[in-house]
Amino acid sequence: MSIRVRFPPSPTGYCHVGTARMAIVNYLFAKKNGGQIVFRSEDTDKERSKKEFEADIIEQLHWLGLGWDEFYRQSERTEIYRKAIHDLIGEGKAYVSEEESKKEPGKMAQVIRLKNPGRTITFTDVVRGDITFDTTELGDFAIARAEDDPLYHLAVVVDDADMGITHVIRGEDHISNTPRQILIQEALGASRPVYAHYPLHLSADRSKLSKRKGDVAVRSYREKGFLSQALLNYLAALGWTPPSGKEILSLTEMIAEFKLEDLHKSGAVFDTEKLRWFNREYLVQLSDDEFTPIAMEWLKKSHTHLSWNESIAAKIIPSLRERISVWSDIETLASEGDLDYFFTAPTLYGKSIPMKKIDIETTQRHLQHIVSVLQNMPAQFSAEEIKSALWDYATTEGRGAVLWPLRYVLSGKDKSPDPFFIASVIGKDEALERVNTGISALLSS
Ligand code: GLU
Repeated sequence: MSIRVRFPPSPTGYCHVGTARMAIVNYLFAKKNGGQIVFRSEDTDKERSKKEFEADIIEQLHWLGLGWDEFYRQSERTEIYRKAIHDLIGEGKAYVSEEESKKEPGKMAQVIRLKNPGRTITFTDVVRGDITFDTTELGDFAIARAEDDPLYHLAVVVDDADMGITHVIRGEDHISNTPRQILIQEALGASRPVYAHYPLHLSADRSKLSKRKGDVAVRSYREKGFLSQALLNYLAALGWTPPSGKEILSLTEMIAEFKLEDLHKSGAVFDTEKLRWFNREYLVQLSDDEFTPIAMEWLKKSHTHLSWNESIAAKIIPSLRERISVWSDIETLASEGDLDYFFTAPTLYGKSIPMKKIDIETTQRHLQHIVSVLQNMPAQFSAEEIKSALWDYATTEGRGAVLWPLRYVLSGKDKSPDPFFIASVIGKDEALERVNTGISALLSS
C-alpha cells in the first residue's frame, strides 16, 4: 500500500505551532514510509479564510524545512463536493431540509442532512486504541448548506477519499469529529483510513495553547530569532521520544527513527525555556562564519541602545556566543544595558567598587597596581595578554579582591563578561581612564 497523508490547515490565522506539529508528525511518518504528502488548504469558511494566512502557513512550513507533493484548495473543488452531495441525495442517503435559519431567526433556510443509520461505530486509533461512539445522538447531522456549499465534515471526507489518503494523523481535538466522518465515508462507499489522534500540547499552566495567551504563531518565534532546525526539533520532541532517546536530531535522523506508535499518549507542555535550550544547542553548532554576520545584524538592529561603533561591535561578537540562547537575546542584552559598557564608560558608584569584606585602601592598592600594569601594555592587546599580565598578582592577592573591582569599574555591572575581555575590547586608553575614574569614585565614597 502506498502511504498518503495530508496537511489540511484552515487558513483562518497565521501558522500556529500546533499546525506545524501536525505537519511535522505527518511529514516524518510519510518520509519514513516512502509515502506522499498532500497539502490541502481547507478554506471553505469564506468569512474567516484569508489568502494572507494561507501564504503564511506555506511560508512557515517551508521555513521549517517541510514540503509536500501535491497542493489543493477546497474552494477550488466545489464541483467535486457538489457531485458527492447530489449523489448522496439521489441515493436517498441525504436529504434537503427547510429549516429556520440559525443565523437569521424567523427566516427559512435550506440545509442538507445525512440520514444517520444511528449505530455504534468503533475505530482503531494508532495512539489511543479502540474508540467506540454511539452515533444515535448525532441525529441526522448537517453536511452542507447547499449542493455547492459543503460543510467541513463532508469536504474532509470527500477529499480524503478522492486524494487516496491512507492515514489521518491529527490532534485529538478531532476525535469527536471522527464518527461523523466515518458515517459520511460509509454513505459514500469510501474506505476508512487509519486514524492516529495525538494529544495536543498545552501552555505552561496546562491550559490549551491559545492566541490570547502569548505566542502561538510560528512567525513570532522566527522573528525572535529562533533557528528553524531548533523549532522543528523541539516541536517534534514535544509529543514523541525517538527510540534512541536522543534529544537533538536532524530531520534525516528523525525520519529514520520515527514510528507512529511512539507518539506520546499524554499532552506535553510547551515550555519556552526548553525551546531556548534546544535553540542554544543549535546556535553553538554554527561556525564562526555562520554566527558572525547574523549576530552583527542583530547587534545593528539594537544600536539605538548603544553609542554605536562598528569596530567595537565586531570585537564583542565572539562573546555573544556564550551569552545568548536565541538571536533576540542580543537585543535584550542591549536594551537592558548589558552591552553598552563596551561602547561607553559606565557611571560608577564608589561603594560598589570593593568586593564584600575588602576595605577601600586595599581595593585602591589593587586598582593602582592595575593602572601600572596597563601603562606597560601596548595600545591594543588581547584578553589573554592582559590576563597573563595580571594573573600572578591576582592569585597572590586574592582573585575576587583584585578582579571584582576591575570588572566593576570597566562595566559598572555586578554581572558581565570577564574584565580581561572587556579591557581588550575597549583598549588601553579607555581601560586606563575607567580604572582611574574608579579610583576617584572609590576615594570619594
Ligand atoms: N482543517 C482542520 C483544522 O485545521 C483539520 C481537519 C482534519 O485534520 O481533518 O483543524
